[in-house]
Amino acid sequence: MKITTLISSSKIKSKIKELVKKIKKDHKEVIFITVAIGARTFSKEIRKNIRSKNYEVKLKSYQNTKSTGKIKLIKDIKENIKGKEVIIIEDIVDTGLTIDYLKKYLKNKKKVKSIKLCSLLSKPKRRKKNIKIDYLGFTIPDKFIVGYGLDYNGRYRKLKYIGVISEDK
Ligand code: 5GP
Repeated sequence: MKITTLISSSKIKSKIKELVKKIKKDHKEVIFITVAIGARTFSKEIRKNIRSKNYEVKLKSYQNTKSTGKIKLIKDIKENIKGKEVIIIEDIVDTGLTIDYLKKYLKNKKKVKSIKLCSLLSKPKRRKKNIKIDYLGFTIPDKFIVGYGLDYNGRYRKLKYIGVISEDK
């Protein structure tokens, strides 16, 4: 496999600073909902300088490099978050199916008051649902990417940058 850098580590760092500034300006205290596993790295950096609570959810939607289109919640929030204003932290919005499902779940089942979305990346080309991203890191082309928490079959999560993965020729 060959990995070509798409977004450098320093670009990610300064973007996160920007996003933290915006979130802090809009909120005194925040409740984050991090989508595991991919968004863990991003979430940790975002939360470093913000007074916040964080809950983790896990959803299954992907197999290899093609979305299955089916979403299943495999890790739920046990605490009562009814009436709360929450911000979802996601690694990447691709088709939008995962976030669409999660937003509906938080609204209808968990009865939260409001939901905002903070996503490191967005791949608008493949979008199937109309998703508003309140705090966005970068818009990227329709390529399968790895690094900064994102994996390919469990690999490359620890890369400090975001790269495009391709087969060696
Ligand atoms: P969606 O439901 O928006 O299609 O997909 C969301 C999930 O798919 C993301 O949370 C992420 O886990 C995974 N995903 C989408 N695109 C990519 C990609 O380019 N690389 C990796 N590693 N995961 C991706």
